[in-house]
Amino acid sequence: MNHAPARPKKSFGQHFLHDRRYIDDIVRAIAPRDGDFLVEIGPGEGALTLPLLAAAGSLTAIELDTDLIPALQARASAVGELAIIHADVLKVDLKALAHRHGVERLRIAGNLPYYISSPILFHCVDHAAAIEDMHFMLQKEVVDRMAAEPGSKVYGRLSVMLQLACKVVPLFEVPPEAFRPPPKVDSAVVRVIPLPPHERHDADPELLHAVVKAAFGQRRKTLGNALRQLLDADAIRRADVDPKARAETLSPGDFVRLAKQLGAR
Ligand code: SAM
Repeated sequence: MNHAPARPKKSFGQHFLHDRRYIDDIVRAIAPRDGDFLVEIGPGEGALTLPLLAAAGSLTAIELDTDLIPALQARASAVGELAIIHADVLKVDLKALAHRHGVERLRIAGNLPYYISSPILFHCVDHAAAIEDMHFMLQKEVVDRMAAEPGSKVYGRLSVMLQLACKVVPLFEVPPEAFRPPPKVDSAVVRVIPLPPHERHDADPELLHAVVKAAFGQRRKTLGNALRQLLDADAIRRADVDPKARAETLSPGDFVRLAKQLGAR
């Protein structure tokens, strides 16, 4: 059957990559190896799917838009073994997917729909134990926040929560013209590698969330003020943190110690 190119849907965050140079750069960055279990989030019309499939021989893709699936399946049939899961990626249990296929860890890739890129990132981080690495196209501004260091203007919740779970490696930028239709923002590709178990923090995740959220919720205030509902000044000092400091100057490790103080109350 002949499938005409789909009309990109705004509601699904569809911006299809068409510039060959960037497609090649992404595939090179992923460097698929024989035996990898590759999972692509949002394959769309297959700009990344087909070259990844050609390199790896098989791939599992998760796509929400039913209309795109028949054409993609047809195009892939001559290239390799493509399994398409028709679902919202946020509802896919990635650990169970790895388990079902008898693999220890997945390699995840995707030119993500920007309207839900942070929830997708955190969904993957929640399944980090089942993931070897991730390569994502995101808004450049999001990649900057993910990789930001303490003291930077864009250092915030996303930086702390991601860096406590993963190594974040920004790779290269991609201009709007590389997509159809062009998004209104610059994009960038980032590699995210879950930390090995011995490098992960051991604070209670909910307490950590609460501390980080409160601290950055009022980033202009001193920590003593921003965390007033959670920890008093003495408890903040016991975490080896100055209650007069501001959230943006704290390292991810400082937040772990604050969360532990909260747990020790
Ligand atoms: N990978 C293609 C490319 O590079 O040309 C398409 C990228 S486009 C930015 C994002 C893709 O994610 C679209 O195909 C869209 O339908 C799909 N998508 C949107 N929301 C999704 C969700 N919740 N779960 C899975 N896929 C989703």
